[in-house]
Amino acid sequence: MTQTTVAAYASPAPSAPLERTTIPRRALGEHDILIDIKFAGICHSDIHQVNADWGVGTYPMVPGHEIAGVVAEVGTGVTKYAVGDRVGVGCFVDSCRECDNCRAGQEQYCTSGMIGTYNSQGKDGRPTYGGYSTHIVVDENYALRIPEGLGLDVAAPLLCAGITTYSPLAHWQVGPGKKVAIVGLGGLGHMGVKIAHALGAEVTVLSQTLNKREDGLRLGADHYFATSDPATFEQLAGTFDLIVNTVSADLDLNAYLGLLRTDGTLVQVGAPEQPMPVSPFALIGQRKSLAGSMIGGIRETQEMLDFCAEHGIGADIEVIEATAINEAYARVLKSDVRYRFVIDVATI
Ligand SMILES: [Zn+2]
Ligand SMILES: [Zn+2]
Repeated sequence: MTQTTVAAYASPAPSAPLERTTIPRRALGEHDILIDIKFAGICHSDIHQVNADWGVGTYPMVPGHEIAGVVAEVGTGVTKYAVGDRVGVGCFVDSCRECDNCRAGQEQYCTSGMIGTYNSQGKDGRPTYGGYSTHIVVDENYALRIPEGLGLDVAAPLLCAGITTYSPLAHWQVGPGKKVAIVGLGGLGHMGVKIAHALGAEVTVLSQTLNKREDGLRLGADHYFATSDPATFEQLAGTFDLIVNTVSADLDLNAYLGLLRTDGTLVQVGAPEQPMPVSPFALIGQRKSLAGSMIGGIRETQEMLDFCAEHGIGADIEVIEATAINEAYARVLKSDVRYRFVIDVATI
């Protein structure tokens, strides 16, 4: 395949509504696969990037790093995939491949910086464009296999929301006998609950209110508490082995650290814009840890997809047509989605 032009939805300028356009996709290299995209999830970080909240963006910007589709063409040297295979692409499409982290399969922490699926610059020096698009060309080593039995629509959000929560749960060895709290029941949080439950842990949701309690219990939580009620912090003091904080709003971290037992860890996966003060005494007294975690490497992402397929776990989604993307963005900002919007790419 030579360089092609494909349809996409792009934001033409910072904070501008997305509109239909066309973008180039590179000619198929030796190790590249061409993916016919079927579904693309809408992640809250897409909105941050469109709005240039995290620094200067490259426009037009085609967001989308929760991509699920089918291999349509393969390069001459491709060995991992064949035409017709069901595949996914997550938050990055390349990395240096040489640093300690890349060699260890932790490409997300590449010391030279991973190449983002969009709003980044590929090794060819051109901008990368994400999944709100009919096709994408990606190196086979940065694609994932979506197991049979997992619908492509419910699998798409696993590529960011799924791995973002799976990785810390796996790293801190969550399993039977462990008490885990998931803070926030949104796109990330609902995946955290499903995965932690499937891993065999006792799962508690900590949400601002009890509004989504029924959902939380249905998704696999054993307990559900409102953080707006001060009694919650007294009742649950010293309880959890691991707390995964998925919310991007400012929280009183000291209060949450108080919910950990000795040697417990509070891991941050949400990204609030403002610094959050922590008292050293909240950590010292019971040897507690405050940590961060970002998505996962290719090997771990595949492990997560296989785990989810085995346990029948997909995201809870609302499928939309491409023309509804801007409306969906507005609803994500109001937390008015249960729990992930997924674009039906056939409507692009
Ligand atoms: Zn994301
Ligand atoms: Zn690297």
